[in-house]
Amino acid sequence: MERSTIVRVHDGLHARPATRFVRLAKGFESEVEIAKGGKSVSAKSSVKLMLLGVKENDEVTIRAEGADAIEAVEALIAYLEDPKSGLEEEGAAPAAPAKAEDAPPAAPQQPEKTAAPLVDAEGALRGVAASAGVGLGPVFAHFPPQIVPQNRTVAKEEIGAEKARFEDAVKRLQAKLDRSLASDEMQASDRGIVAALRDIAADETLHEETVKDIDAGLDAVSAIIAASSKLADEFRNLDDAYMSARAEDLEAVARQICLTLLGHEEAKLDDIADGAILVAEDIGAWDLARAPLKRLGGVVCGHGGATSHVAIIARTHGIPAVLGLGEAVHELREASEAAIDGNAGVVYVDPDAKTRERFAEMIGAADREREALKAYRDVVPRRADGTVIHVAANLGSLDEIEAAQEAGAMGVGLFRTELLFMRHMHLPSEDMQAETYATLAKAFPDHPVIVRTLDIGGDKPISGVEFPEEENPFLGWRGIRMCLDRPDIFKVQLRALLRAAVHGNLRVMLPMVSDIEEVRRTRALIDECAAELKSEGAEHGRFQLGIMIETPAAVFGAAALAKEVAFFSVGTNDLTQYVMAADRLNPAVANLNDAAHPAVMAAVEQAARAAVEAGIEIGMCGEAAARSDLIPEFVRMGLTELSMSPVSVQATKKQLMELFDKKG
Ligand code: PEP
Ligand code: MG
Repeated sequence: MERSTIVRVHDGLHARPATRFVRLAKGFESEVEIAKGGKSVSAKSSVKLMLLGVKENDEVTIRAEGADAIEAVEALIAYLEDPKSGLEEEGAAPAAPAKAEDAPPAAPQQPEKTAAPLVDAEGALRGVAASAGVGLGPVFAHFPPQIVPQNRTVAKEEIGAEKARFEDAVKRLQAKLDRSLASDEMQASDRGIVAALRDIAADETLHEETVKDIDAGLDAVSAIIAASSKLADEFRNLDDAYMSARAEDLEAVARQICLTLLGHEEAKLDDIADGAILVAEDIGAWDLARAPLKRLGGVVCGHGGATSHVAIIARTHGIPAVLGLGEAVHELREASEAAIDGNAGVVYVDPDAKTRERFAEMIGAADREREALKAYRDVVPRRADGTVIHVAANLGSLDEIEAAQEAGAMGVGLFRTELLFMRHMHLPSEDMQAETYATLAKAFPDHPVIVRTLDIGGDKPISGVEFPEEENPFLGWRGIRMCLDRPDIFKVQLRALLRAAVHGNLRVMLPMVSDIEEVRRTRALIDECAAELKSEGAEHGRFQLGIMIETPAAVFGAAALAKEVAFFSVGTNDLTQYVMAADRLNPAVANLNDAAHPAVMAAVEQAARAAVEAGIEIGMCGEAAARSDLIPEFVRMGLTELSMSPVSVQATKKQLMELFDKKG
C-alpha cells in the first residue's frame, strides 16, 4: 500500500512535528516507510526521518506493509497534509533540541574570540565585569569530562553479554528520564528537553548502528560513541543550523548512555554548595537559568560579554559575574576557592589571607548597603517640574515578578518574550501567551507593563521556526523582521496581547525597528487581530504601541517614528553594538562596547530630542539604564523611565532622589 502527497506541515518535519509523526507511525504494526527524492527511510526512526530532511511543500510517498497498512498510510498522509500537525501544545514533548533550548538569547553561533588572558600585578585574572557585586567562596568547576573511546575488542563469546549491557544501559537511561518526566518538580520547560532526549535514546537507527559495531567486536562504550558521531556527522554535513543542533542532541544522549554504562553520574549544577563560585568554559544561559541561582556566590566564564544573556541572568539575580576570561579560566579548574569582583571584572584564584580579608570586608559592606537601600523601596522620584521618573524592571519570566515587586519596581519596562518561546519546545499557544501577559499586567496594577514582541532570529533559534544560515546574524533576520515575515507566529502573539490588555496597563513595543513601514505593517496586523477577536466575540482591549530604539536607523529616523508611536525605549545593548560596530558578545572588542561612548550618548540624545519634541515618552531598557555615571545625563535628556534588573532598582531610586533633592 502506498500513497504520495505534498507536505503541508508548517516548516516540514522538524522538531515537534517529526516526533509526532514517528509516534503516529509507531502506533501501527505495519512496516512503514517514507520516501523523498528516491530515498526511503523507516517512518519509525526520528533520526532517519530528520536526515531525510522533509520540508514544507516537498513531495513524499508513504509505503506500508502489514495488517494495518491502509490505516497507517491514511493516518500518516492526513498528518502530512495538515499545516498545524505537531504544533498543538498538549501531550508529549517533541524531539526538539536539548541544545537549541540552551542556546537561549545570547548563545553565539560563531566561536567567540576571547581576549588574551590578563593577569594583573596582584595575580588576579582579569575579564569582563559582567554583573556587579563581590563574592568569596569555594570553586564549583563545571568542566564536563570527555569520554574517550577505548576501542577495546570484545571476545566473540562476550559479544552477547556486551549487547545486553548496552540494551540495559539504554533501558536504565529511559527509566531515569521517565522518572524525571513523572516528577512534579519538573517544570514544563524542562520536561520538553527530557522528553526529546528520551525519544532519541529510544531511536532505532542509533540502536541499530551501535549493535552493528558491537556485533563486529567493539566494546559498547566505543560502539555508541562511534554510532552517534557517525550520525552526528551526517547531520552536520547537511550544513543547517537546526541539523547541527540535532547532532548535539545525539551526542548528548550517547554521552548519557556511556555514563550509564560506566556507572558514572553527570556532574549536576544542583549539587552546587552554598555561596560557591561557578566556573565554566562556557555555560548556556538556559543551563544557568536552571541552576540553583539563590545558592550561587558568583559566575566566572571563559566565554561571554557584559550584555550576553548569561550576564543579564546574573544581574537579574544579583550574582556577581566575570565573563570572557578566555583560556585563563582553566587556572581556576583545580582551585579550591575564588574571590570575584564583578564591579572590576577580576577574579583571584585561591586568594591569600590579605585578599580574603579585603573581600570579606567588601561583602560585609555590600550587605549593609543592601539593607540601607531598602528604605528607598517605595519612594517615587520626581523631577523639579513634578514629572515622575519611573524606575521599572526588566523581566524574562513570571518567576522574576516577585523580585521586582520586592525591589519596588514601578512596573515593567521590558518583558523579554523570547524566553517564553525558548523555554518551550514548541511555539507557545495563544491561550498560554495571553495568560502569561495577563498575569504580568495584574502583578503591577498601578504601573505600565511593557511587553516586547518576539525578538529572536539569526543567532537565537527557537523550535518551530526554520532559520536561514546567515553570515551576519546580528544584521539578519531577527526581531520585527522575522515577525513580519511570519504572521502565523506574530498574529498569535498580537492576539494574546490584545486579550491580555483588558487586565491592566499593558503596552507593547517592537524590537529592532529600522524602518517606519515595520511599524505601519504591525499596526495593520494589530487591527486585523482586533477585528478577528471582535468577530469571534472574544474579550480584548487595546494597548499603546511603542518601539525600541536600538538601530542607528531608528535614531536617524526618530523624528518620523515619533509621529507613529506612543513611546520609545532605548535598547543600549544593541544600540551600542550597532553604533560602535562592536559585537556585544565578543570580549575582544569589549572596550568599544561601551554605552558611555560619546557616539552612543549622542545617539540617545538625538532620539530623546525627537521624543520630547513630539510629546511622546522615552525610556531606556538597555543595561545602561542602571549606570550611575550616566543616569544624570539620561534624565537631563528627558528620559522619564529607566528599566533595569530588579537588583538595581533601589540604588537607582536613591540616586534619583538625591539628584532631584540637590536641584530642588
Ligand atoms: C537592548 O538591546 O538594549 C535590549 C534591551 O534588548 P536585548 O538585550 O534583549 O537585545
Ligand atoms: Mg536588543
